[in-house]
Formats: sequence, structure tokens, C-alpha cells
Amino acid sequence: MSATADTKAASGAASSVFTGPEPPRWEDYSRCTHCGLCLNACPTFRVLGEEMDSPRGRIYQVAQADAGRLPLDRQLFTHLDRCLDCRACETACPSGVEYGKILERARGELERHPELARRSGVARRLRAYFFDRVLTSPAAMRRQAALLGFYQHSGLRALARASGVLRLLRLAGLEALAPEIDRAPFVAEMGRTFPALAADGQPRPGAPRARVALLAGCIQRVAFAEMNRATIRVLQYCGCEVAVPADQGCCGALHVHAGRRDQARALAAANFPLAGYDAVISNSAGCGAVMKEYADLFAGDERRQRAREFAAKVRDVTEFLDELGMPDGVLRPVPRIVTYQDPCHLAHGQKIRLAPRRLLGRVPELRLMEMARADACCGSAGIYNVVHPEIAGRLLQEKMDTIAATGAEWIVTANPGCMLQLRAGARQRRTGQRVLHVVELLALALPPAERR
Ligand code: SF4
Ligand code: SF4
Repeated sequence: MSATADTKAASGAASSVFTGPEPPRWEDYSRCTHCGLCLNACPTFRVLGEEMDSPRGRIYQVAQADAGRLPLDRQLFTHLDRCLDCRACETACPSGVEYGKILERARGELERHPELARRSGVARRLRAYFFDRVLTSPAAMRRQAALLGFYQHSGLRALARASGVLRLLRLAGLEALAPEIDRAPFVAEMGRTFPALAADGQPRPGAPRARVALLAGCIQRVAFAEMNRATIRVLQYCGCEVAVPADQGCCGALHVHAGRRDQARALAAANFPLAGYDAVISNSAGCGAVMKEYADLFAGDERRQRAREFAAKVRDVTEFLDELGMPDGVLRPVPRIVTYQDPCHLAHGQKIRLAPRRLLGRVPELRLMEMARADACCGSAGIYNVVHPEIAGRLLQEKMDTIAATGAEWIVTANPGCMLQLRAGARQRRTGQRVLHVVELLALALPPAERR
């Protein structure tokens, strides 16, 4: 018997209701002292006011279930499903509880009991199609994007919105959150290498400052192509040679968050060869946070060492640019007032707060107005805004109120999911605010020949 099992047995634990291969670990959840200092940081506790929808309450339920004192039932599913996995509780916790690990393992257990979710047949099939096909195959993603793009660009969307049929089918909210499909997806860039540039836009003499690989993402390739292009341009002007390896795929982040750990591992391992570069650059905070924690995902797996080596190379693009330093004289004035929204998986997951702000501070004439609670979740959280539109909607309204109080013309953040949610908020309120990734703003400050 392991030391962990010994200690758990000594605590009087009966038979756990968790029967899967990767249950929540005693050494993780037992660190919670029930102090409650995380409660006010928790968005779902703030909105719902229920202890069982707080970090402390969720950890308690997991511990009780693991001790065989709570059934694996609909109630447990509901409270864990309502969690945004924003990890604000980790930042607030003085005991260093790594809540994300507890939640993701518990979700892995719940994933083994789909009956608890009570999803309709259509919802089950759609979910399986999304996780098993669309996210795992760039070609399938492109096909779905082409269909959605046809709907958005052909006039069908305008017709559907004007006719009221979306409201009738209760699809208006979902439709408003769908990403805007790019007319020019990020395809031609795959497999190419972009040279390091000097401040005048000419190839940089001598060796590049770094040779990096860009993680092109799965949804980013079809809905955030300009963000990827901006990432490449800014890295080039920072003196980096940027490769976009063609044989890369989804990092598995959404699978990890949903408890689909086997699938996540298969996807993650396919990207391990990218560890041969000086750095693996991510412009999606959610993806970066999961990739940096691959060693945990591969605990007990023979590929763990390779997972560690890969994880050690992963850098969020803002972290990397800040570490390397933008060369002097590259960035031109952008006379705008902006506010910055901390993506949860950057601020709480990766502990990166200052790098994006320092980068914005390098842009001449740009004024950064801090919003209150900039690190509070906007309600995006992967597909949370689709699954729990009411809670997500309330969080978005809170966020838009704090943004309005800054008087910002533009909203800047560092994660595609947050961008979608904040764009939906700006559209709802008709503020006309542009929502940009930090690298998109930096790209606007590049020399004129490189401006869009
Ligand atoms: S991850 Fe976020 S929503 Fe979930 S318990 Fe922690 S603070 Fe609350
Ligand atoms: S998770 Fe941390 S902050 Fe929250 S109750 Fe437990 S020990 Fe306290």
C-alpha cells in the first residue's frame, strides 16, 4: 500500500465512489484547511451564493465522495459542472491548494458516468462530435468552419437574425457566441518559417535571437487567423525566427478541462517533437496553462519525461516577448485608451500578470486604464458560456460594467475565448469597442509597411 493510501486509510476512509484510473488525489484535496479565504474570489459563489458552489464546498464534496460518504450523483455533477475552472481560488488560497488538479480529475470520473449529465441525444452526439472529431482533426475543423463561415458571410445569418427564427429555436444566445470565421484562414502559413526582422523590416543580420515554434491552435486557425499572423509579425520584429510546423495539432486543453484525459494525452504527445525549438509559443492562455502542466497529465505514464521537456519549452507569447524584450525603436505610437482583462489561465493558471501590461507600456501614446477586478472571470471559460449561459451572462455583465467605468476605447486581453466573450459583451451594449489580443495591439504599433 502506498504512503498516500496509508494516510487515507488512517483517516477512516471507506470505499471511494471514484473507480477510474485517475481519481482526485488525497494529497491534493487534503491540503484544504476549510479556511474560506477563497470564497469571495470564486465567481460561482459570488453569483449563486451557495457553499456547494464555492471552491471549499466543491473540495469538501470531492473529499466526501472519495471517502465513500457521498454518492456519485447528479448533485455532485451539477456543482462540479458549474465550476468555471478559472482557478481564481488557487490565487486566493494561502495553503497552496491546486484546485484545478482536483477538479480535472473529478471531472474525469464524472465523464465515466455520462448519464449524470442528462444530456439529450442530440447534445450527446454534438459533444462527442466536437471532442472526438472536430478538435482532433484540423481537416474536420476546417470543414465545420467552412459551413459556419458560409452561414455568417452569405447573408443567411442576417436573414436568420431578422426573421426571429433563432429566438424561436432558443439558439440566439449560442449563435451570438459563435466565433467569427475568417475569410482567410491560417492555412498558407502552416509549414513555413518566417525570418527574424530588424527594425526597418529587412531580414535581421546575423543569427536570430531565438528560433521558436508557434502553436497555431485548432480554433485559432479558422477564427483567429489574424491573431496568429500578428503573433508571427511581432516575434519577427523581436528578432526571432518563427516556424509554424505543419505536423502539429490540438494541445488537448479542452479535453483536460472536460475530464477526457486519455484523449488529451494522445493529442499532447503528437506535439512533443516541437520541443526541439528554443521555445514553443502559445497565444492562448488556456492552451498554455495546460501545456505547462503536461507533467501532471502524464503522471505514471512512460512518456512523462518527454512531457516535462515539452512543458519546459512552452511560453505564453506575452511572457516570451517580455523576457526577450522588444527592441528599441520598433513600436510606433498608438494614441488610444485601452483596458486590460487578465485571462484566468494566464493570471491564475500561469501567474502571468505583469508581462502583458509591461508590453502595452512599451507602446508610445497608449494609455492603459486598469479596470476593477481585472482578473475576475468574464464567463468565457472554454465552452462554459455555451453550457451555462445564465451564469456566464451575469459574469459578462459585471465585467462590462467595470470596463465601462474605465472609459477605455479598446479592450485588450490575451486569450481567444475571452476575446469572443468580450466581443459579445461589446456588441450587446453597442459600445463599438474593439477587442484585441496584446499581440494584435503590438502589431498595430509596428512600422507602417506592416500595418493592416
Ligand atoms: S475554479 Fe473558479 S469557479 Fe471553480 S471553484 Fe475555483 S474560483 Fe470558483
Ligand atoms: S481552498 Fe484554500 S482558501 Fe479555500 S478553503 Fe481550502 S485552504 Fe482555504
